[in-house]
Amino acid sequence: MINLQKVVRNQVEYRTDPLTSEQTRINPDRAKRVKQAESRVQLQEIINHSRNQCIFCPERIDTITPDFPTQICPTGKIRRGETVIFPNLYPFAENHAVGVITSQHFLDVDQFTDELLTDNLMASLDYVRTVNSQYRQAVYPAYIWNYMPPSAGSIIHPHVQIMVETEPISRVKKYLQKSENYFNQYQENYWKILIEEEKRLGQRYIGGTDTLSLIASFAPRGLNEVQFIFHGINCLSDLTQKQVDDFVRCLRNILKGYKQLEVGALNLVAYSGPMNQEQDYYWLNMKLISRPFPKGIYTNDTGPMERLYDVWVIDTLPESLPGLLD
Ligand SMILES: [Zn+2]
Repeated sequence: MINLQKVVRNQVEYRTDPLTSEQTRINPDRAKRVKQAESRVQLQEIINHSRNQCIFCPERIDTITPDFPTQICPTGKIRRGETVIFPNLYPFAENHAVGVITSQHFLDVDQFTDELLTDNLMASLDYVRTVNSQYRQAVYPAYIWNYMPPSAGSIIHPHVQIMVETEPISRVKKYLQKSENYFNQYQENYWKILIEEEKRLGQRYIGGTDTLSLIASFAPRGLNEVQFIFHGINCLSDLTQKQVDDFVRCLRNILKGYKQLEVGALNLVAYSGPMNQEQDYYWLNMKLISRPFPKGIYTNDTGPMERLYDVWVIDTLPESLPGLLD
């Protein structure tokens, strides 16, 4: 039983998240509003300007970025293909690492290859498993990609954040609790039922494989929000090679679609359950959202409604996303 509730008032769709009951307000007309502060600084200028001093570029990364202690990595940095992982100098989490994705200072959203994305995720999983083997209480991994500054990424050079914490992030805790409540009430896995229901409705189901489903969220918290739901596993560290391959292929296709939508910044986050614990009520899932295009001064996509009222005002329709891959 999935309750996809919406009411329309003043041309605004008030939608309720079927798991958390949180509210999103959607009005696609808002995408047409005048944004007076848009400046004319070109993206290429930002890229060129930042390259000279970039600490993630190959000529500086080895000398400037810190090393792990030997029990985490005997060679100081975890490497796989072009990915290089090292500790975050400015952490906001326990066991907080940075994973540079490519040796190129800049790649456009549609230029990330399967190899780059696979190496990055696999190396990140190595880091997560190693941390957990050293600190058994660190069981909550997170994988975050902030692409370009409007996403809150401070460095242009493509990189991810990886963390392994003793407590779940509050949103993960909420997802776990709500999923468990759902299971207790209906004796079914919420995520499995959500996929079945979205497939049946055919309005927001984007596609997938036998190990992974992609859905445009009914009540999104971001523009062009896509949910990746991994069948049958609850933790990042449980990802199989097949699931990583499927995820990377689907992600690359969505990024190609984002390019068609002229997306120039994005966030991807994983909502992972705890490591080493069997749970039949939760499935690992991720969310991908687009952010404003990087161009000097721009109109932000989150303001007081999101930051201070915890209400999400969205100007892209979830039902338009399945067409992205056509
Ligand atoms: Zn760089």
